Amino acid sequence: MDHHDNSRRRFIKLTAMGLAAVPFANVLLSGTASAADLISESDPVAAAMKYKADATKAPERKDTTALCSNCNFYTGKAGEASGPCALFQGKLVAANGWCTAWAKKPA
Ligand code: SF4
Repeated sequence: MDHHDNSRRRFIKLTAMGLAAVPFANVLLSGTASAADLISESDPVAAAMKYKADATKAPERKDTTALCSNCNFYTGKAGEASGPCALFQGKLVAANGWCTAWAKKPA
């Protein structure tokens, strides 16, 4: 009887600890994901803006010099492959990307 009670108590304790750890793991994972993730072309906002990570693959792009890296909404550093965009908070866009909101960065 005693033995049973002990193992049952141990099981409950382990289960409770496991459940308690889940929300923390989620916070850690989503925290790092939103800091450095490249936006996906299939993201609903990106898709609505017809965003392409490779500007040359965007049929709507008329100005062949238009890239995220020379867009007014782009705040990435020159020479880096990706950077933040004011339209996609918490995500990065490709320096060589493009979307319909492109506006030339003032010189
Ligand atoms: S707004 Fe500019 S920087 Fe942002 S995704 Fe569109 S083209 Fe790229």
